Amino acid sequence: MNYIGLKAYAKINLGLDVLGTLDNGYHEVRMIMQSVDLYDKVGLRKNTDGRINVSTNLPFLPVNKDNLVYKAAALLKEEFGIKDGVDISLYKFIPVAAGLAGGSSDAAAVLRGMNRLFRLRLSVEELMERGVKIGADVPYCVMRGTALAEGIGERLTRLKRCPACKLVIGKPAVSVSTKYVYDRLILDENTKHPDIDGIIDGINNGSIYEIADRLGNVLESVTENAYPVIGELKAEMKKMGALNAIMSGSGPTVFGIFDDAEKAEACNGVLKKSGLTKTSYVVGLANGGTE
Ligand code: ATP
Repeated sequence: MNYIGLKAYAKINLGLDVLGTLDNGYHEVRMIMQSVDLYDKVGLRKNTDGRINVSTNLPFLPVNKDNLVYKAAALLKEEFGIKDGVDISLYKFIPVAAGLAGGSSDAAAVLRGMNRLFRLRLSVEELMERGVKIGADVPYCVMRGTALAEGIGERLTRLKRCPACKLVIGKPAVSVSTKYVYDRLILDENTKHPDIDGIIDGINNGSIYEIADRLGNVLESVTENAYPVIGELKAEMKKMGALNAIMSGSGPTVFGIFDDAEKAEACNGVLKKSGLTKTSYVVGLANGGTE
C-alpha cells in the first residue's frame, strides 16, 4: 500500500465545563464530545525522499512542523525509525480556529493513516497515547463518536450513540484562539456550570430533547462577551426552530440542534443571507469507524 485517504471529522461539544486550573497551567475539563459529518480530507502517500511534505488548499496554513499533520507524522516516523517519507495532502473543509478541533482531527487522521501505511500495528489506545503529545483533543479525535472527556480532555469514556438529529453549524466571520478564551475565564461562585451528568442521562435515555435542554458551555461567557454576534446567532437559530443552540469549544462556532431536517435547511438558508455567519452547514452526526 502506497496511498491512503482519510476523513478527519469535526467535533462539537454538547457540554463543556471547566472545573479549575491544574498546577501545570492546563485546565481541568469535563466535556461531552460528538463527531459531526463535516470533515477535512487527508491523503498520505509514501515517498522515497525520506521527508514529510505537506500541501494544503488553505494558503495561510503552515506547511512546516507547525502544522499538526506534520507533527503527527514526525512523531511516528521518529519513534519507529521509518526511513521512507510521506507526502501529506490536506483539503480543509472544517473552519480554522473555530472550536471544531479541525487541526486535532487532521493530526488524528495522520496517526491512523501512518499506522496502516507503515504497518505499525498500534492499537487505537496506543495511537491515543501518542496523540496527547500533540494536543489534548487529539486522543478523542482518534476515538471519535460520542464520549465524555475529562482531565485535560485526554481521559475518555465512550458513551452510548447520541440519538440522530440535524445540526446547523454556523461560523461567524471572526477567529478565536483557545488561549485567548481560557486566559480570560473567571471561575467563581457566579459561574454557571453546565449539567454534564444530565447530558449523559439524556444520551442514555436516547432523548434528543433532554440533551438539547441541557446543552451548556462555560466558555460562552468569555467569547460571547467579546463577540456579541455569537448571542445573535444563537437567538436566530432558536427563532428558526432549533431545540437549543450553543457555542462549540472556545468558539466562535455556534451549533443548533434540530429534530426536523426541513427546519434545519430553512434556518441555514436564513443564516446565509443574514450576515451573521461566514460559513454555515446542515450536517448529521458522525459516529466514527469509516476512514
Ligand atoms: P479546538 O476546537 O481544538 O480549539 P480550533 O478549531 O479552535 O480547535 P484549529 O482549527 O484546530 O482550531 O487550529 C487553530 C490553529 O492551529 C490555527 O491558528 C492554525 O494555524 C494551527 N494549525 C496547525 N495545523 C493545523 C491544521 N491542520 N488545521 C488547522 N489549523 C492548524
